[in-house]
Amino acid sequence: MSQTSDSTELLLLASSLRRHLQRRGQAGMLRIARHNRSQGSPSAPNPVGSIGGTEGDLFWPSAPSLGAGNLEELRAEIGDCRRCKLCSGRTNVVFGVGNPRAKLMFVGEGPGRDEDLQGEPFVGRAGQLLTDIITKGIGLRREDVYIANVVKCRPPDNRNPEPEEVAACEPFLKKQIDLIGPEIIVALGKFAVQTLLQSKIPITKLRGKWHSYHGIKLMPTFHPAYLLRNPADKKLVWEDIKKVIQEMRRENP
Ligand code: URA
Repeated sequence: MSQTSDSTELLLLASSLRRHLQRRGQAGMLRIARHNRSQGSPSAPNPVGSIGGTEGDLFWPSAPSLGAGNLEELRAEIGDCRRCKLCSGRTNVVFGVGNPRAKLMFVGEGPGRDEDLQGEPFVGRAGQLLTDIITKGIGLRREDVYIANVVKCRPPDNRNPEPEEVAACEPFLKKQIDLIGPEIIVALGKFAVQTLLQSKIPITKLRGKWHSYHGIKLMPTFHPAYLLRNPADKKLVWEDIKKVIQEMRRENP
């Protein structure tokens, strides 16, 4: 086996172990130690394509101040959020949608106009394409997976979220992921991918390979909105999604 496939195999095994321990923990069979961010190992970015073989990755720190025990409580903690300036232009906080115990989670950048108006992520044209990927490509229903964004309020004119906006919102995404406990995260587009992996490496180099987000398998791929402008790259996304399907089958034989 090559060094790369060894690393990938180890990454997938570490992720499976984390998932297994987390499920046992959720079933009350095990208490997984959680580290306060200030005490525990920092969430250092993983080298691309490498395994995240640290305790911090297996037992990743949850946002210390968020006590929510489920998604409804987390949504209530967000409240009528005023933690960053995106609040001034938003109609709705777009929290997320889907199965609270989803094995597969999609993370985009932030709500667009349609999402802001409807209060639900990925409901515009790009959202329709994502729904097609989920239903026609993967064979799941939209309500079987969980869909969220890095930031929960629409940036004006659909600009990229700014660092302080991401910093204000990221604890909620982390807690959301922690509560859902997905086996696999698909990060959609350059912004979500680079934010989650804390990397400046171009998405063209990151996509199609397994990475680790605090011990959870993460597959970067192009954003559906990009695919609307560049339909020829749909075949690359399909390659990435086939890897996701294969891994889901491996985890759930
Ligand atoms: N683009 C995103 O990144 N998220 C949405 O919810 C909609 C469009």
